[in-house]
Amino acid sequence: MNDYQIEMNLSQSRKQKPAFDNLQFGRNFTDHMFIMDYTEGKGWHDPRIVPYQPITLDPSATIFHYGQTVFEGLKAYQTKDEQILLFRPNKNMERLNRSSARLCMPQIDEELALYGLKQLINVERDWVPNLEGTSLYIRPFIISTEAHLGVSPSLTYQFIIILCPVGAYYKEGINPVKIAVETEYVRAVRGGTGNAKTAGNYASSLKAQEVAGKSGYSQVLWLDGKENKYIEEVGSMNVFFKIDGEVITPELNGSILDGITRDSIILLLKHWNIPVKERKISIEEIYQASKEGKLEEAFGTGTAAVISPIGELFWKEKLLVNNGETGSLSKKLYETLTGIQNGSLVDPFGWRVLV
Ligand code: PMP
Repeated sequence: MNDYQIEMNLSQSRKQKPAFDNLQFGRNFTDHMFIMDYTEGKGWHDPRIVPYQPITLDPSATIFHYGQTVFEGLKAYQTKDEQILLFRPNKNMERLNRSSARLCMPQIDEELALYGLKQLINVERDWVPNLEGTSLYIRPFIISTEAHLGVSPSLTYQFIIILCPVGAYYKEGINPVKIAVETEYVRAVRGGTGNAKTAGNYASSLKAQEVAGKSGYSQVLWLDGKENKYIEEVGSMNVFFKIDGEVITPELNGSILDGITRDSIILLLKHWNIPVKERKISIEEIYQASKEGKLEEAFGTGTAAVISPIGELFWKEKLLVNNGETGSLSKKLYETLTGIQNGSLVDPFGWRVLV
């Protein structure tokens, strides 16, 4: 137990809820948000739940100019008996603090953040959708707010959590995507901010995404920023390959985000005694494996889609993975992980947290 004091200022009016069977990702926000402030010398203060509303910042606030900001993404699921579950939320709070450390931003009390999140979800219980595949998406983030033009760490910050109900990622079954290997732009470099969940990484990824989109590819496969040789991530997901019976994912090297889905999949595979390795893997190796008929499956992993099978890869030429179909391991991982998340399967790892 703890004795955190969170001030509650609940909204007098409630919004009309969107139809839960037709939700667009990230468009409809709930009635309230969690917020707390940081002032240098005083630390974090005034945690509160308030009506969802715009925030007012000075035009010179450092966030607008120097981009000191970090965020997280996780989901809450409603079970058949109306419990609300979070999936490894402590991992998100830990990662938020690691991202903050990289950007010279203050650490939060992870327990307070989780407590605040649970309180907020409790206020918004009616917003957690209960249809198959739906969930409440959670976006915690921190912004630098000091009114000061100068490249130095801000002296003030805000930590905010907003929530939005989201629909099933796959409406007609898990669907393979077409991926182009990106050979011009890079997402991150060694020593940069690739392993921090910070806005700049996403801003700098848009161009490659735009170019690939024009050629009919839904995401890009990112290569390393030094030699343009080793695989890093796919879109904003981690990536796995099954080659000749063994599952391989790029090792964490400082420029790859340490995905919570990635970690869960590695643990699941080990639990099933399926060989899994974290190591450097070059695009040439994938190409050769494909040519030799050994590239059995490839998939991206992340909170939004959980598993996103890769049906086609473009590098030098079009390479089909598993004839463009979803592989059996991808399917099994998807069903197991989503089952653990939504409470329909047992959770041998103790990953679920009850709200
Ligand atoms: N890489 C990037 C760049 C991401 O934005 C995400 C989504 N947070 C991931 C990987 C997957 O991380 P997770 O499994 O924790 O959602």
